[in-house]
Parts: sequence; C-alpha cells; structure tokens
Amino acid sequence: MQMIENYIDGELVVPASGEYFDNFEPATGDVYSLIPDSDDRDVNLAADAAKAAFPAWSSTPPEERFAILMRLVALIERDLEPLAQAESKDNGKPVSLARMVDIPRAAANFRFYATAAMHLANESHETFGANSVHAINYTLRQPLGVAGCISPWNLPLYLFTWKIAPAIAAGCTVVAKPSEVTPMTAFMLSKLCIEAGLPAGVLNIVHGTGPKVGSAIVGHKDIKAISFTGGTKTGEEIARTAAPMFKKLSLELGGKNPNIIFADCNYEEMLATTVRSSFSNQGEICLCGSRIFVERPIYEMFKTDFVERVSALKIGDPTDAATDVGAIVSKQHFEKILSYIDLAKEEGGTILCGGKAVTAETQRPGDESEPGAIATGFRVDSERCKKGHFIEPTVVEGLPHDCRTNQEEIFGPVVTIMPFDTEDEVLGYANSVRYGLAATVWTENLSRAHRISAKLESGIVWVNCWMLRDLRTPFGGVKDSGIGREGGFEALRFFTEEKNVCVKL
Ligand code: NAD
Repeated sequence: MQMIENYIDGELVVPASGEYFDNFEPATGDVYSLIPDSDDRDVNLAADAAKAAFPAWSSTPPEERFAILMRLVALIERDLEPLAQAESKDNGKPVSLARMVDIPRAAANFRFYATAAMHLANESHETFGANSVHAINYTLRQPLGVAGCISPWNLPLYLFTWKIAPAIAAGCTVVAKPSEVTPMTAFMLSKLCIEAGLPAGVLNIVHGTGPKVGSAIVGHKDIKAISFTGGTKTGEEIARTAAPMFKKLSLELGGKNPNIIFADCNYEEMLATTVRSSFSNQGEICLCGSRIFVERPIYEMFKTDFVERVSALKIGDPTDAATDVGAIVSKQHFEKILSYIDLAKEEGGTILCGGKAVTAETQRPGDESEPGAIATGFRVDSERCKKGHFIEPTVVEGLPHDCRTNQEEIFGPVVTIMPFDTEDEVLGYANSVRYGLAATVWTENLSRAHRISAKLESGIVWVNCWMLRDLRTPFGGVKDSGIGREGGFEALRFFTEEKNVCVKL
C-alpha cells in the first residue's frame, strides 16, 4: 500500500500523529493508498519552515525563481504520463482528460507565473503640491510572507498549482493543502520540487482533512493570506476565521452556471460544445453549464439532438482511452448527486436520459421505464470497475428555474433544459441563483452577445465557446461564487502587499 507523505522544510515526512486514512480509487471503490492524517502540529512545522525560508526566497531575484520554476515545468512535462495516470486513478476522470488538460495545465501554471513575475512593475507618481512642493511617490509590491493555499478535488494538480505558482513566483513561501479526496499528484509534485532544487521551506504540503489541516492553516497567526478554492459553505467558514485576523482572502467557490442558447446560434458548434460543457470531467468542473436555457423555436430540435449525443457518450473505465465519462470522485459525492436526481423527479422533472447509477446490478442495455425516457444503454464494460461510483449522464426537463434542482449546485453529470421566449426572461432565469461564476451564451447576433454579457451576473461569460482559457484574464466569481480574482497579474498582486513611499525632492 502506497503511503503518501507530507513535504515540510524540503523533506518528505510522516505526520505527527503517525495516523493515516484510506485513499480510494473511485473507479473500483478500492483503497489503494494511505493519506497522512495530519493536524495543527504538522501545520505549525510547515508554517515555521515557510517563515524561516521567506527572507531568502523573497529576496531571490525573479530570474532565479524563474529558473527553478522552469526546472519544475520540465519535470512535470517529463512525468506527464505517470502524473496523468495518477490523477485519473485518484479522481476517476478519464486518463485522456488528465493527459490533455490537467497535467499540461499544471505545467502551464508554473511557466506562466515564472515569466510573469519578471514583468510585474511598480507605479510611480510625480507629485506637485502647494508652496512648490515636489515629490516622487512610488509603490513597492512586496511579497506578503507566508501564504496558505487550499484546493479541491475536481481538478487536483491543475488548481493546486494555479495557487502555488503565483504565490512562490511572487516571492511568498507557502503552506498548501490539496484535497484529501485526491492527494496523489500533490505528493508527486513534492518529489519533483525536491528534484528541481526548490529551496527547503519555500513550498510545504500538508495532507489531511479540512477540519484538521485546512482550518489550522486558516487560523495560523503567521499565515498572512489564504487562497482557497472549494465549496461556498467552506468558504464561509474560512472567512469567519480569517476576517477577524485581517488576512487577505481569495475565495473561488461554487457555481450553478447558465448556458443560454439562442435560435440564431451556430447550431452544430453549440451542440458539440454543450455536450462537453455539461459532462466533461463527469460535470465536476466549477465552470460546467448545468442549467441549459434554449430559445423556444429550437427547443424541441435541441432536446432530441442533445439527448441523442449524450446517450452516445461512453461511460466507463477511466483508464480506457475511449471513455468520455469516468467515475464520480467519491462514494459520498456519488450519493449526493443521486439524491439530487431523486429531488429532480420529486420536483416534477422528467429524466430524458440517464438518471441512474451504473453499478454491477443496474447495468442494462437501455431502459424506457421512465415516462418520456429515451433508451440509452449506458454501461461500464470493465470487470475491474464493478464496484465503482458511476452515474449516467443525466438530462432533465420540465422544471421551473426556481426549484431547488435549478438553484443548488449538484456538481455532477446532471443538467436541466428549459425553454425561453425573450432575452429579459432568460436573463431573469440566469441571474436568479445565489451563484455567479461562469455563463455561456450562444448567438450570432453581435449586439445581443454584448448586451447579455454585460447584464449577466457572472465573473466569466463565454460567447460561442466554453472554457477557452487565457491565463492572463481575471478568473473568479460574483455573489456566492466568491471574492477576488485569480489569473494574470491579479494573482501576483494578491500575494504582495503594496507600500507607498513618498520622497520629497
Ligand atoms: P470543499 O469546500 O469541501 O473542500 C475544498 C478544500 O477545502 C479541501 O482541501 C478541503 O479539505 C478543505 N476544507 C474543508 N473544510 C475546511 C475548513 N473548515 N477549513 C479549511 N479548509 C477546509 O470543496 P470540494 O468538495 O473539495 O470541491 C467542490 C467545490 O469546489 C464545488 O463547490 C465547486 O464548485 C468548487 N470549485 C470552485 C472552483 C472555482 O474556481 N470557483 C473551482 C473548482 C471547484
């Protein structure tokens, strides 16, 4: 059984408690490694190491930080295949997705911030006052000290590095915690950091649960800022602890994203992208569009074509190159998603396809027992995955925009489809949720695209595309989807304190 270790002060170490808990492979339901059950003692050691490393690291020239981070990029790229295999095994996502998206993006995060740190500029202002006063004001942006980075399970290495890379590129030192549900690639990263020659204490990775390790990071007096991605409820808890300590906070939280489709859209492109934006990574991407609004003239056509395409998705063993939809990340999350499918039915929704767990018992060649259901034949053709947590890609119709199914985050392979008639009506539906992370708009009408984009309560609007990312753009949500923005110089600035120096000439 593989034992995961913490990475503290440049070394791989066992947790202070000596205790471990199980790490499951979601595609099989089996335990395959053990995770350190760390606590505040490990966090204290990590914070001490980070604090001790800060003076030297913060005064290391950006060119030297660049060189070390680029060595890390080369190592991630060298190990792309084992990292992709590990990510897929730990999370349940198709290995093809980990290979194409997750791991390349982890390398891209370090590359982007290694270079960006060399371009971070400070402002200066020449000041003229009364009585011939003349001064120069300039702004120093200084790394703020030890930063805490806490990440979720859905894009494990991708989001972990999205926080760590700007923090250490900016000159901060870090205490980081990956999700306890998917710790493996963070552990592999710690070995690569040692190989890359990252100085001891610059990055410290403490594994364990949110209540023990996450809250100890958030509450630690020497940790000056918290960059968190995860659920809205956890974000609230973090803010409650961090706000009275006057810590800087960046919170990237939940979403319930609208996908708005007008009749004049490029239909083929919209259809293919909407299948992806609904079910990529089993719908477990905070940016997935889970509420699909379709203009009435094309609603019936869309419904038929969409359900046909979704029904053709291949659900199966994540290691199989042909798999489109893999396993749900954990038994707990699997049960949560199924409870929402039950809720959708209770609320009067019709399941157009999917709607069930795919287990050894329920695998079947199609099922038309639901009124209005279309036979699908989802099955997992793998002996090894018989006890895995698989859920059929599910499309629901017939629900109002304000029911719980359409208001609460499900974060799984479940979407609803709803018709609309006017722009104002669909904007009302789209903006009716507490969240505001991302939205997608499909239309060939340029004026409408701009008009709607301006009115959507959302941190990101994709017009005629989805998840087309440019790392320079501000990334984050409004309303209960969070505060602050990641990406570009925003993230580097987050990890610095600004100091105004005024020199009278
Ligand atoms: P989660 O909030 O349960 O956990 C996220 C991380 O926080 C984990 O590392 C967890 O151990 C830790 N944590 C839990 N309790 C904590 C506490 N009290 N103090 C400090 N840390 C604590 O979220 P999850 O289930 O891992 O991830 C799914 C959620 O993440 C969804 O809501 C999804 O929308 C959101 N998400 C948001 C974005 C975004 O960019 N906005 C991206 C990905 C995922």
